[in-house]
Amino acid sequence: PGEPEVEALQHADVAALLPVPGAESDKYRRGVVGVAAGSDRYPGAAVLAVAGALRGGAGAVRYVGPAGGAVLARFPETLVSDRGPAKAGRVQAWVVGPGAGDDAQVVEEVLAAEVPVLIDADGLRLAPRDVVRERSAPTLLTPHAGEAARLLGTGREEVEAARLSAVRELAGLYGATVLLKGSTTLVAGAGGGAVRVNATGTPWLATAGSGDVLSGLAGSLMAAGLEALDAGSVGAYLHGLAGRFAADGAPVGAHDVAEAIRYAWRDVVRTG
Ligand code: AMP
Ligand code: MG
Repeated sequence: PGEPEVEALQHADVAALLPVPGAESDKYRRGVVGVAAGSDRYPGAAVLAVAGALRGGAGAVRYVGPAGGAVLARFPETLVSDRGPAKAGRVQAWVVGPGAGDDAQVVEEVLAAEVPVLIDADGLRLAPRDVVRERSAPTLLTPHAGEAARLLGTGREEVEAARLSAVRELAGLYGATVLLKGSTTLVAGAGGGAVRVNATGTPWLATAGSGDVLSGLAGSLMAAGLEALDAGSVGAYLHGLAGRFAADGAPVGAHDVAEAIRYAWRDVVRTG
C-alpha cells in the first residue's frame, strides 16, 4: 500500500498548528507580514488582503502600494510604507498580487526577499517561473482554476476536470507550494507528498474579493512561522469556516468573511 494521495486536516490538526502568542511574545516575534497589493484601479483588494492578514496571527501588518490611504482609513493599525518592498523594513513573509495590476517592479522586489512569499492574482501573471524556482525561501502560489490554467498553458475546463494532477503539476513546474482554489481547495507541497484537501467552505464564498482575504490570511500565518503547506491548508480551513459563519445561509461580502475569521479561529481553539 502506497502513501495516501490526499489528506484532509481535522479541527484538532488545525488547532495544533495555530500560532498562539506566549508570555514572552512581542509583535516582532509574532511576525510581520508585508502586503504588496492594490492599485489605483483596485484599492479594495489591498484593504481586503490587509483585513485577512490582520486576522491571521502575525504581530503586525506592513502595507506597501498605492492604496495606503484606503487601508489606513479602514485599519489604522496597519504600518503603511511609502517605499517599495525592498526598502519597507522588517518583514517575515510577503503577500503580493491581489489587485496589483501591472506592477512588475513590485513583484520583482518581493521575489528577491529571502523570506516566504505568497503570490496571488495579478502577481501570478507577473512572476517569472525561473525566478520563483530559484528562490531560496518558500513560495506559495494561490491560483483559482482560471489562473492555474494560464500558468499551465491550458484551459480552465481542463484544470477543473483534473484538479489533483493540475495542482501537482504546477507545484513541480514552479518548485513551490500551490493552493488551487475552488469549491474544494487543494494544496500541494513543493516537494510532492500527499495533497491537502479542504472542504470547509461554502458557495457563498464565490464573491468578489474573497480570495484576497485568503491571501492575507495565509501570508500572515507564514509570517507567524507556519510552513507554506501548513499556512495554505490552515488558511483555507479558517477561510472556509469563516465564510460559513459569516454567511449562515445568506449572501456575504468578502469583508464579512474577514471579520468572521476570528470566530472561526475561536471555534477551532474551543472544539479542537
Ligand atoms: P478568488 O477566485 O480568488 O476570489 O477566490 C475565491 C475564494 O472563494 C477561494 O478561497 C475559493 O476556494 C472560494 N470559493 C469559490 N467558490 C466556492 C464554492 N463554490 N464553494 C466553496 N468555496 C468557494
Ligand atoms: Mg482572486
